[in-house]
Amino acid sequence: MSAVPAATNACIAELKALLGERCTTAEAVREHHSKGESWHAARLPDAVVFPESTEETAEVVRICARHRTPIVPFGTGTSLEGHVVALNGGVSVDMTRMNRVLEVNAEDLDCTVEPGVTRKALNAYLRDTGLFFPIDPGADASIGGMTATRASGTNAVRYGTMRENVLALTVVLPDGRVIKTSRRARKSAAGYDLTRLFVGSEGTLGIITAITLRLYGVPEAMSSAVCGFKDLAGAVNTVIATIQAGIPVARIELLDDVQLDAINKYSGLDYPVQHTLFLEFHGTQAGVKEQAEMVGAIAAENGGGEFQWTTRAEDRSKLWQARHDAAYAALALRKHECNNLGLWATDVCVPISRLAECILETKQDLDASFLVAPIVGHVGDGNFHLAFVLDKDKPAELAEAERINEKLILRALAMGGTCTGEHGIGYGKAKFLQAEHGDAVSVMRLIKQAIDPAGLMNPGKMFTA
Ligand SMILES: Cc1cc2nc3c(=O)[nH]c(=O)nc-3n(C[C@H](O)[C@H](O)[C@H](O)COP(=O)(O)OP(=O)(O)OC[C@H]3O[C@@H](n4cnc5c(N)ncnc54)[C@H](O)[C@@H]3O)c2cc1C
Repeated sequence: MSAVPAATNACIAELKALLGERCTTAEAVREHHSKGESWHAARLPDAVVFPESTEETAEVVRICARHRTPIVPFGTGTSLEGHVVALNGGVSVDMTRMNRVLEVNAEDLDCTVEPGVTRKALNAYLRDTGLFFPIDPGADASIGGMTATRASGTNAVRYGTMRENVLALTVVLPDGRVIKTSRRARKSAAGYDLTRLFVGSEGTLGIITAITLRLYGVPEAMSSAVCGFKDLAGAVNTVIATIQAGIPVARIELLDDVQLDAINKYSGLDYPVQHTLFLEFHGTQAGVKEQAEMVGAIAAENGGGEFQWTTRAEDRSKLWQARHDAAYAALALRKHECNNLGLWATDVCVPISRLAECILETKQDLDASFLVAPIVGHVGDGNFHLAFVLDKDKPAELAEAERINEKLILRALAMGGTCTGEHGIGYGKAKFLQAEHGDAVSVMRLIKQAIDPAGLMNPGKMFTA
């Protein structure tokens, strides 16, 4: 503790008095809160606290504010751009003990939850209501973290992202005030839209302590399909034509040949090693059949192979589990080759009409490179990821990944796209925010300054110094 500023030590002493054992400086706990699943360099917080209510969270924030101690909100730590790294030390505020579903209003198709509820826990809670919450970033992330990163995932093409699905928030501001950003009404024209401001704010403006979400009826029928393509253009053009035709697919995911090979090996599947689309359809029995037939016809026109369609729940869950394990499957591709492997996942998103161009040019870069980096994506939204599988002991690999990542982002921006469709900025992509938003970043900085004048909330994130 010798390097810890005296003010921080005084702050930790007050937090311990408030929370007892729910404020800890144990090395292992601080280590767990130092980086999460992200590739970017870690830094330990000086302490970790576990509040159990909005009032307690507000008191934690007031104590930190008095001692000018940085505050880093923490959900489940699955964010990918260094969001939870305690760059300036301070206190990691772990929200996992605030994990109650506060209310479900089935008739209004909404619910209110505490931030530590995970998406899987919420859906398990809703199981008997006939309702579900569709946003699915693969990882079993917390609803608070998903709100703070404006997460999306495989279902967003049909149900939208957290931006469309959060109705209202309770937020503890950096001075300890507690506000509600909105009410349960489906729409409102009353004042500035503070809900949207906090959705995607990455813990830089306050701590979210309750979230009101939209819910959906579980569809009468769900089916999934798999279709391989000899060339990447055929697969991507199938996606573009499907979206342009207005077919309401629930999921349409691209896995390039490298990723498909990886998941075959990792998940014990035996799909032909080709560029492949995984799809899901929601609706009535007749509706899902009709949607599948329409997409099957588009795929055939674009050189697709057999359109393997199934309504069996076991087949569907096996397929999506394999898709969700894509990152771990990618890592396993090199597990025999080196001991110090790391996965750097990056994402961009472009308007759908530019998707083929963007993916094909990126694939050319990868074909010309010595790196292993599968492409996988929520392509129905124009969003795709590269997962660089890197030997951390080889600086040349890191330099090459940086080069390709930068080229990818500049390409996406030149096409009217964004440097991140869903992972967010954290500190890994802070340098691209200006390139994307230009002068608008100065307005974002003004908002940050107005709400958090001491710069205590998740410092070093979103903006470059
Ligand atoms: C294998 C894998 C696959 C993934 N796939 C996707 C994907 O398909 N789509 C996608 O969108 N993301 C994906 N992600 C990224 C990640 O799951 C999301 O960013 C998720 O939303 C992070 O939630 P979390 O609870 O882990 O938040 P954390 O990582 O704990 O925190 C993320 C950010 O939110 C802030 N935060 C957390 N809780 C609060 C709170 N209560 N109040 C204020 N700020 C808070 C933190 O300070 C931090 O800045 C993936 C990650 C992994 C590991």
